Amino acid sequence: MTTPQSPEPVCEVRQEAGPDHDALGTRIAAHAEIAAPLVEEVTGLRLPRRPLIRIVTDQDLLASDREYSTGMLHRLRGEAYGFQLIDETEFSAALTTLDQGAHDLIAKHNIAFACEDARMRPQVLVIASSVVYAGHGSEQLLRTVAHELTHLAQYRASKGRAFDFSNTPYGYGQRPPGAAQPIACATSFLLEGHATWADRQVTTKLLGQPVGWADNARPPQTPCAYEDGCAFVEAAIAALGVTTFNTVWPSLLHLCPNMTETEDVSAWMRRAFLPTSTPTLHAAAQG
Ligand SMILES: [Zn+2]
Repeated sequence: MTTPQSPEPVCEVRQEAGPDHDALGTRIAAHAEIAAPLVEEVTGLRLPRRPLIRIVTDQDLLASDREYSTGMLHRLRGEAYGFQLIDETEFSAALTTLDQGAHDLIAKHNIAFACEDARMRPQVLVIASSVVYAGHGSEQLLRTVAHELTHLAQYRASKGRAFDFSNTPYGYGQRPPGAAQPIACATSFLLEGHATWADRQVTTKLLGQPVGWADNARPPQTPCAYEDGCAFVEAAIAALGVTTFNTVWPSLLHLCPNMTETEDVSAWMRRAFLPTSTPTLHAAAQG
């Protein structure tokens, strides 16, 4: 005789911020179960197996981020796509910059962000104090969960490179033929634009309309990475289709839009896709 078992949750949610936040952990777990399959559906990307979401205190966030930053810098040391971390002074300066970024997340009441831990497991950290500050309602929590899960899907699709790209202090750049200097990749523009596009798709499916940012919980980065990036991604997916658009992820170094292309999605598509996707473009134009 077998005992019926409830199915394993899609996501692993750890509530680590103390008993005051148990109800928040339960709400986030419920949102994650609904949002995870929809994120995969709208983006056409797979999530990592059992996506991890942790609800953390400010102190845990700082400690986790420091572990991650140290691990990332060691990993990229001497690699960094052509840049070299040559001495301890430079290493320490980079770590200080990344530490400041983590402090800024708390100071600006950022709700959540996606990262790796020191063992390179991708995850979403939800900052409990920021949720309390923002007084997040259900719709905002759902939007946040969908948005951050999309970052985990980007991570998987980019073979683990997406966070290195957005977090490295070395400004990965492309060097187009004939260019004297590398041109900086517009990494946050692409990642945040895509995650914003996806969270709007998911909330539209569930609520009938997209959920925007709450006024007191706007992300700390420049709004254009989210708003303009979303418009950029929306236009690209409308022209290319999701499948062709998603070929950007395994080739971020070459296919990520650069800073000069963020205001001209057509120029980016011509450079990144036209040689291999003319039939798709034609089909989109005719359809
Ligand atoms: Zn984001």
